[in-house]
Amino acid sequence: MVDAKSTKIADLLFPDIESVPDETPDRNLPKGAAVTRYAPSPTGFLHIGGVYTALISERMAHQSDGVFYLRIEDTDKQREIADGVRLIASGLGKFGIRVDEGVHPDMTETGAYGPYIQSERLPIYHTFIKKLVADGNAYPCFCTSEELDQTRETQELQKIKTGYYGRWAKHRVITSEEVEERLGRGEQFAVRLKSRGVEGQKIKFTDLIKGDLNLSANENDAILLKSDGYPTYHWAHCVDDHLMRTTQVIRGDEWLPSVPLHTELFTLMGWELPQYAHLAPIVKIDEAGSKRKLSKRKDPEANVEYYFEQGYPIAAVTEYLLNLINSDFEDWRREHPDTPHTEFIVRLEKANASGALFDFVKLADVSKAVVSRMSATEVCAAVIEWANQYDAELAAWLASNRDEAIKIFAIERTGEKRRKDIAKWSDVREHIAYFMTDEVVFVRPEKIDTTTATEILTKTIVLIDFSDSAEEWLAKFRALATELGFAPDTKTFKAAPETFKGHLGDVASVLRLALTGRTNTPDLFELMQVLGEQRVKERLERALNNL
Ligand code: GLU
Repeated sequence: MVDAKSTKIADLLFPDIESVPDETPDRNLPKGAAVTRYAPSPTGFLHIGGVYTALISERMAHQSDGVFYLRIEDTDKQREIADGVRLIASGLGKFGIRVDEGVHPDMTETGAYGPYIQSERLPIYHTFIKKLVADGNAYPCFCTSEELDQTRETQELQKIKTGYYGRWAKHRVITSEEVEERLGRGEQFAVRLKSRGVEGQKIKFTDLIKGDLNLSANENDAILLKSDGYPTYHWAHCVDDHLMRTTQVIRGDEWLPSVPLHTELFTLMGWELPQYAHLAPIVKIDEAGSKRKLSKRKDPEANVEYYFEQGYPIAAVTEYLLNLINSDFEDWRREHPDTPHTEFIVRLEKANASGALFDFVKLADVSKAVVSRMSATEVCAAVIEWANQYDAELAAWLASNRDEAIKIFAIERTGEKRRKDIAKWSDVREHIAYFMTDEVVFVRPEKIDTTTATEILTKTIVLIDFSDSAEEWLAKFRALATELGFAPDTKTFKAAPETFKGHLGDVASVLRLALTGRTNTPDLFELMQVLGEQRVKERLERALNNL
């Protein structure tokens, strides 16, 4: 396809580029090792959907002994925000997503395939596009935006497909003389693909998530290089993913319709096409009951900061995302309760193909299970770290009551039935409030009359003995319940409810309310051990006085 005219045009457009493009070396990885990347634009906060994409990409690389890298796609300078790169890189770090190559939070780079920031790669895009032009596969377009608007209006009026293609592609057959003349006049140009696609043609394509697809061929002479010298996404994707030796492009499915264009670009360059996995976005059910994408503007949970602020353990959010990716993660977790989640093998072919539904209830469940597997010391350390940043009062209390805090978190943290009440660190204050203060408000449960409540409290104060074991305490308390006319357990109560005032649980609720002001707490015996004899007796007496 190379002819003198194309070469002349290429030289006119890029007079300073002389070299033949440099190829990057092979990565020499073992067979089957995936090279993946996360390639965000630094246009805002790190979106939870970004973590989702990055997590899948990182897993595909690391579970195959491959490489995962971070590339910054900053070709739209107008939409860029000042702190964008740092927010992304440090956000990934907080999620434990290990980046082997690319950009780090301090803006340094590692890796032999850089630069990894697209705005620093302009000469590379120019070098390769010069080749594309010289080969007759791309050409300069001098159309002004007014001209392009006009074309579009005409197409709309005629009710035909809009775009720069076929007979509408005005500069597709431009001569080198005209190029020279226009450049001489200082006119701006974009570089467009000379598409060989034919309308109506279909291309077969196999997506790693969506399977076998038939997509409409591209016939648009898409812009590859903008008049400001920056590449469009399409061109940067082709050049970078080739040069950085990406084997699996895992990206949002809004790019699926662009696959034919990308296939065309790789073919024209004589480069091997990477595999693609197109991910459906994370969706939620809105107030009106319909599904929509998590919105940057409307949904606070779209921003990863939300999870940090609320104090969801990172492992919990990660496990929740793994659940969204592969719904069998849950079964795996059940079978491997003590294995780190990094051992779970992500399978793209099993990934959610139509939009993973974000669900706070499920997130809380996953998180409670994650917290239940942590030790009391780990929980305490995590709460302190969180509180230091987000809850000064709690932080101060923890700093001076660390030993007590560990004891509190140790309640119901051993054995088969571990407590599953904490989903996020911001819940902790509510859970431990009755340890933090002695100002407990006692309200007698409605089911128990004042005389009975008085009896329960008076007799408990007498029978309570801090040298008793859990079993001894329970036996005594059960005997008290029976003595006062309550069934010793729910089963006995249900068999003949009319013969009892209630059951053991009702008696315990008086005690629970007197000690904590709550109807729901972890195990009473363990809780009393942490409170200590003096505080327990004081609280019971105060409740008695308030009856
Ligand atoms: N910068 C692109 C985006 O944010 C990247 C897509 C890709 O991963 O190729 O949508």
